Amino acid sequence: MKLPSINKQHLLFSIILGIAGLLINCYPIQFFANVQFVLGNTVTVIAAVLMGPWYAFLTAMLASTGLMINWDSPHVYLFFGLEALFLGYARRRDIYALYADAIYWLVIGIPLVYLYVTFIMDIPSSHLGFITSKQAVNGLVYTSLASLLILAIPKLWFFKDKVKDRQRRMLSSQLTYFFTLMVTLTLLFSALIFNYYFLERQQAMLKQNINDAVSHLATSAQNYINGHKTVIANAANQLTIVADDPLEWQPMLSNLHESYPGFISMLIANPQAQIIAASPVSRLLSNNQTRNININDRDYFIESFYNHRLFVSSVFQGRGFGNDAIIAMSAPFYTDEHHTTTAGIVEGSLDLNHFAHVDQNNEYAIDESVVMVDEQNQIIYASEKLGLSSLSQFKFVVNNGVYRTNLELINIERPESIVPEYIYAHQSLDNGWTVYILKEFSPLLKLAEEQMFNSFLMLLIALMCTFYISKKLSALLTVPLEAVASQFSPSASGQHKLPSIDENSPKEVFSLYQRLLASKQQLIDHQVELEETVARRTEELETANKKLKELVDRDPLTGLYNRRYAERKFNELLDFCLRSDQAITVAVLDLDLFKDINDNYGHLAGDECLRIFAQLLQKYFKRDIDIVSRYGGEEFLLMLPLTNALHIEHHLNSFREALAQLSMVSPEDKRSFNVTVSIGAITANADYSIDLDKWIKVADDNLYQAKQDGRNKTVINIMTE
Ligand code: GH3
Ligand code: MG
Ligand code: MG
Repeated sequence: MKLPSINKQHLLFSIILGIAGLLINCYPIQFFANVQFVLGNTVTVIAAVLMGPWYAFLTAMLASTGLMINWDSPHVYLFFGLEALFLGYARRRDIYALYADAIYWLVIGIPLVYLYVTFIMDIPSSHLGFITSKQAVNGLVYTSLASLLILAIPKLWFFKDKVKDRQRRMLSSQLTYFFTLMVTLTLLFSALIFNYYFLERQQAMLKQNINDAVSHLATSAQNYINGHKTVIANAANQLTIVADDPLEWQPMLSNLHESYPGFISMLIANPQAQIIAASPVSRLLSNNQTRNININDRDYFIESFYNHRLFVSSVFQGRGFGNDAIIAMSAPFYTDEHHTTTAGIVEGSLDLNHFAHVDQNNEYAIDESVVMVDEQNQIIYASEKLGLSSLSQFKFVVNNGVYRTNLELINIERPESIVPEYIYAHQSLDNGWTVYILKEFSPLLKLAEEQMFNSFLMLLIALMCTFYISKKLSALLTVPLEAVASQFSPSASGQHKLPSIDENSPKEVFSLYQRLLASKQQLIDHQVELEETVARRTEELETANKKLKELVDRDPLTGLYNRRYAERKFNELLDFCLRSDQAITVAVLDLDLFKDINDNYGHLAGDECLRIFAQLLQKYFKRDIDIVSRYGGEEFLLMLPLTNALHIEHHLNSFREALAQLSMVSPEDKRSFNVTVSIGAITANADYSIDLDKWIKVADDNLYQAKQDGRNKTVINIMTE
């Protein structure tokens, strides 16, 4: 197999293109999250269209290196190398680059990206649609850009030794293609820019929302805690008043609890850490053990009883009084207003499910979750859908690595994944707690994906319109042009109804049509005229030719045939006579003493004499088949086929005698004179000889004899049987 030779210029150009692509690809356009827009591959398409698959492959390898530097994933060589080859081979088959690229991404590119992303990159399926469609849209954008660049830059359009179309393209397909390019490019670009800003805005709004939500939540949580702290403090003050009357404690506690249902339970303990009063009372009564429960090991007892302070516990698992995760708030109360002796403590277990109500009432964002942790990062409350249990540590990984966004992103379920799970915001409370609002990231991605899909759909509709419009548009030119062409095609005959130029035809075509029609008419007129002229000229020429031929065959003085003609005709006569077995007479006639006539009467008289002699000859030998010719000077030759041997001598003699009788007049001096002729002849069957000379020899001999015998004689040999 012979390797195709390498075009050095093409090699150089593909390397230059590749390097340009590499540089451009080093700075991809940030589109959304970690999705970047590739424009450097434009050079690959240019190389494929101008130089075919292998140069394009080289360019693609170089350009992809830019992406490799940026993304650090070698798959780009595969996707874009294959794309270059596909485009190059499609180009050789006259398939337009944009169509080829669309086919490539649909049939090869998207499935490849899908497989790659699924099996190698480990990206959740929710991202697939977005990533693959983005890649295809990206491909269409740089292909359109490249095709338009080639069209717009004359140096590329007239690129030396570029790959050429194998077949001439129809105007309609050219128009359709370039419209499609324009539509694709403008539509996708504007859609992408619009999407970009829309998503930017969306992200900013999200950030704003989530920050608002978290500060709202923090404030309400803070108020909730502070409010209940105040309740406990007030309860302690009231209890101080009735410290000496423990029977008052239980109704007071029940009243208080009724007013503040934020507490799950409340209790009052005496200095021995025994529970004296509890709410709900049922808890105290239903459990006989309760009264004996000593709470002197509880933080809330110790902190408020011994340290005399309003205490708020960390979250802990309640015991004895139910197993809810609770926060205890406690305060000491005293026997007197001067707070000298502690009379007991009052405690309330704060209902943490309150945050669930806040969470569930948060109707603005269904995809928002709440997490609240205490100062030890223990989960106080977490929205149910997060699946986090309270009291456990809140673990998450901040995931801002690959995603260039000003949103703060975290992962909880899949800390290793590069795909962020939640957008989050947090705020700390005065007591060291922190509230988090988490918002799922995937809806944003879904939005981006939907926009990409809608752009696709819009493109599809726009392309369908483009196909229709450009077909109509090109018909405006092609239909009248075809009408014009059919006017001039050889098959266009009168019977067929020719397509006509209608009022929709462009002015230029119509004027072309009119001009062509006019020149066609001129052409026809001219042709008719020419034909007439040619016919006339031909006729004239034929006449002239005939005359010329006559002249060539005739003697100008006498008008008789000349010697050449006679000699030429002899064979014909001979053949004719041979077939009918007839005799021919050949006679040579020589005017007697003609020199004297010239001498005596002048040369003109001699000429006149010759003419009169010729006329007389024609009068005597007038059959069509007789050849009467001037043999030279004053000698004449007769060839008389179908001779009647019995009469010929007599006929010759009658002629000779008639001549002798004829009186001629000299044109100069009007003197009259006479002339005689000597005749030597031979009459023989045609088979005597095919050689004229032999006949003439005999006739000449006889003429000589006639002269010898005194002139004005006929000597003839008759050799027929
Ligand atoms: P003979 O009886 O022996 O034939 O004598 P002749 O004088 O006829 O013979 P000769 O051959 O001596 O002379 C022929 C003359 O014919 C010579 C020439 O001047 C004349 N002649 C030949 N052609 C023409 C012609 O076309 N016009 C005129 N006027 N004279 C011619
Ligand atoms: Mg002579
Ligand atoms: Mg003579």
